[in-house]
Amino acid sequence: MELYNTLTQKKEEFVPHTPGQVKMYTCGPTVYHYAHIGNLRSYIMEDVLEKYLRWAGYRVDRVMNITDVGHLSSDADTGEDKMLAGAKREHKTVLEIAKFYTDAFFADCEKLHIRKPDTVVPATTRIPDFIHMVEALLEKGYAYEAGGNVYFDTSKLENYYVFGNQSGEDLAVGVRDSVEEDQNKRNKTDFVLWFTKSKFEDQELKWQSPWGLGYPGWHIECSAISVKELGEYLDIHCGGIDNAFPHHTNEIAQSEAYLGHPWCKYWFHVLHLNDARGKMSKSKGGFLTVSLLEEKGYNPLVYRLFCLQSHYRKPLTFSFDSLDNAAQAYQKLAQRIAALSKEGQPDETAMKPYREQFAAALGNDLNTSLGLTVLYDVLKADLSDASKRALIGDFDQVLSLGLLEAAERQAKPAGKELSPEETAEIEALIQKRAEARKAKDWATADAIRDELAARHVVMKDTANGVEWHVEG
Ligand code: AMP
Ligand code: ZN
Repeated sequence: MELYNTLTQKKEEFVPHTPGQVKMYTCGPTVYHYAHIGNLRSYIMEDVLEKYLRWAGYRVDRVMNITDVGHLSSDADTGEDKMLAGAKREHKTVLEIAKFYTDAFFADCEKLHIRKPDTVVPATTRIPDFIHMVEALLEKGYAYEAGGNVYFDTSKLENYYVFGNQSGEDLAVGVRDSVEEDQNKRNKTDFVLWFTKSKFEDQELKWQSPWGLGYPGWHIECSAISVKELGEYLDIHCGGIDNAFPHHTNEIAQSEAYLGHPWCKYWFHVLHLNDARGKMSKSKGGFLTVSLLEEKGYNPLVYRLFCLQSHYRKPLTFSFDSLDNAAQAYQKLAQRIAALSKEGQPDETAMKPYREQFAAALGNDLNTSLGLTVLYDVLKADLSDASKRALIGDFDQVLSLGLLEAAERQAKPAGKELSPEETAEIEALIQKRAEARKAKDWATADAIRDELAARHVVMKDTANGVEWHVEG
């Protein structure tokens, strides 16, 4: 497989440290709020990568942390702890908040067919490991104590900015003027490994340490958890592109200083999901969640398809219009699959070239949209229905769009009998929505879509206008 590596800024042949085995680490969510669909874009694409590697024959061992302590409201070392802010907002304890939003995160993942990693580790369960790593960094001279905190000394590294392609804006996060400078730091880019002193003294969770009662910095958790669970050589580290700096840069500094050799070979970063206001982010508020999509009548797997239609290394802009297009595409796919006969046996020889095309698409830096094109080619191909079904089932081990299941549902008569009055009412609403959309009156169009969704109306644009039925 060829994979783009942020570390070298090149597409490279993927060669794991141990042949046939992939050790993969993923930065998990900061569980102070629901995951938004931007976060979930990253997790969907990472899931496809994991599943493709398994499909291609690798054994994959994947670990994810849950950030339930230490992630401050600025990605630099300043501000309030995000978890504590969440707990205050909801009048709960930090651990209650963490449990609630961790469960909500995995419920969303399940709806999006994102496989739960083999090992999931909440940061608060590994404090002794963090302390051990900080002690080792102090012993090796890569860290220093100042003003009650322990800092990583970035001047000890030959090259701190390992991801050379960072934009000026990204780099500014840690060093920009508006971030109040911490007088304890020897260098602007130094970062906290362990806090005992902060302006935010009301931190709820604190632990005893050789430096006094305190709590870990954000970056140390991923280094310590990854090294402990996956060993000294990591093959792939994943995350959204905003994590490249400072989080991943600091992880590399810590892990390599601790281990004394290069640590992770491939860095896989997913570009952002944006909306009309720019990057979708939890702190901005007003973000979109899986539950909200469901309330509006969308199957979460339609969002997965929407993500797969684009390459992970391109920013993706979300709009309900493009989600509607994905919904139509999903339904059409399900219909075409439903029309395939279940009789007969697949012909392995005839299927082989399509498998190879699919492997070539996904193996080329995870080109999911090309993978979908191969799936459409299969539907059009001169193949038996049994072979087509077998190929779709096979590809869906990677794409996880639930296509065969959706086709099953399609095959069953879903429509509910309606009275002529109900039919006329719905027809009128659909007509009004079309007019509102034409007039670019999105508020009205959205309100009508919500009302139709509440009545379980499923719509489909066809050459003859909108076709619809009521589910249930
Ligand atoms: P957080 O919960 O903030 O720690 O973020 C969880 C994951 O989502 C990280 O890998 C982030 O890099 C990623 N992420 C955050 N915002 C976005 C976005 N708008 N689009 C894609 N990924 C994102
Ligand atoms: Zn991390």
